[in-house]
Amino acid sequence: MKQKNILIVIFIGIFCLLGACYLWPEGVRAALSQSARSDLRKPGLTTPEMGYPFPRADKTTYQMDLYLDTINRIVYGQSQIRTTNTSGRVLGELWFSIYPQAFQNVSTSPAPAVAYTQGFSPGSLQIKEIKFNGHSCDFLTEGIALKVMLPRDMLPEEEFHVDISWQAQVPRVAYRYGTQDGIFMLGHIYPTLNAMSDEGWCLPQNSPFGDPFCLSAASYLVRINVPQHYRLVTSGELIASLALDNGRENHLIKAEMVRDFALTACSGYEQAKQVGKNLTLKCILPSEMRTESSQVLKESRQILEYFNCLWGSYPYPELSVVVVPMQGFVGMEYAGVVYVSEDQLKRSGLTMLLAHEIAHQWWYGLVGNDQYDEPWLDEGLAAYSAALYLNHLQGRSQLPAVAVRQVSLNRALPDFAADEPYRQAIYQGGEGFWRALEQELGADKVQKILRSYLSNYRYQLASGEDLKQVINQEAHRDMSRFFAAWSL
Ligand SMILES: [Zn+2]
Repeated sequence: MKQKNILIVIFIGIFCLLGACYLWPEGVRAALSQSARSDLRKPGLTTPEMGYPFPRADKTTYQMDLYLDTINRIVYGQSQIRTTNTSGRVLGELWFSIYPQAFQNVSTSPAPAVAYTQGFSPGSLQIKEIKFNGHSCDFLTEGIALKVMLPRDMLPEEEFHVDISWQAQVPRVAYRYGTQDGIFMLGHIYPTLNAMSDEGWCLPQNSPFGDPFCLSAASYLVRINVPQHYRLVTSGELIASLALDNGRENHLIKAEMVRDFALTACSGYEQAKQVGKNLTLKCILPSEMRTESSQVLKESRQILEYFNCLWGSYPYPELSVVVVPMQGFVGMEYAGVVYVSEDQLKRSGLTMLLAHEIAHQWWYGLVGNDQYDEPWLDEGLAAYSAALYLNHLQGRSQLPAVAVRQVSLNRALPDFAADEPYRQAIYQGGEGFWRALEQELGADKVQKILRSYLSNYRYQLASGEDLKQVINQEAHRDMSRFFAAWSL
């Protein structure tokens, strides 16, 4: 306990120093917007050896210093990413995703028109300055991609740090990135170092539907300055808060080994919580909906306990369910945080929605995957997991053996023309894959496969080939014919 307090004092000291040093420097470096798209990424292509060696979760930390200006809807950010070149290659460049850039234009925004209740409002992420090991470097931006040219080649196993000074404009839109009715939903707001597979960089991608992300897990230490009447909901846990004499407050948050750092700030929202032995469960929702919080907490607790028993315990100290004014999605998953759309709160499908989003804490959070190239991996598993939970609620120990329609799962987001066919193939088809596997191998064997998949790829990114290998090993036979029926 004593040692923990000393560590907290050191963290606060570091952040006070960071604040004094950075103060969001001026000197905007012009972003050169010429084509930077690489052809390294080929949707749907995997090889049996494919892995994601860089960046590694246990070697990567993000320290961020953020300031939320709620009047002008701007977040000023200073990020320092520390990691090691574990790619096994000499690197001359680094790729980052700058997701808020997707919201610059009507034509590129993934938010549906109905989400812009006051007309279109642009969002962006401007990069002010980038330093590699303390030395300024050039960079290019195109769409949501940021390419950083290193001042010299970086050798394998070299430790390095990148400092990025940035500024994000938050659009007025009821979406997972945007602000509406007193809430700032700031998913994927900060520059994120992209993952590299054995084939090369997983380049940043935008998509009008689905989750176009391929995120390596990392540890985060974040200082956020917000107006005092705003409540923060984030991944990880609050370490310290300090009220300032200007009506604002500094919060220091730590999140270890998480897929991403979720950030939400809300005013006029209420919080209900259940403090358990190892986990604090929170429900944050608009004040006028406060009577619904006990039901959300009760159901979320039951779902978590069910999945904990199936696969092993949820490892983080907190889980927050936030009810948000979001259009285009009914739910959204982040590490330690789940969004549920206000419209869904009183609907009969709420239990299934909560089960789906909470299952993502394992299948997306603990075991990550390329959600752009292989969306069936996490969405299929989340849909199947929700079906398992509903079946359990009905008192059945096993899913009923219904006829399953086989579809091609080997498809990336751009292989679909619209959201509906994407959901049918990836969500329903993905769930069908797991139901069919139960019929082939038995329900107990499938749970054994999932526990192996979790233990082999915890805090890593897994590919479809990795999963097939786990299934073959646990089945003790070659399952190629089964996979082929799903074009895998
Ligand atoms: Zn999902």
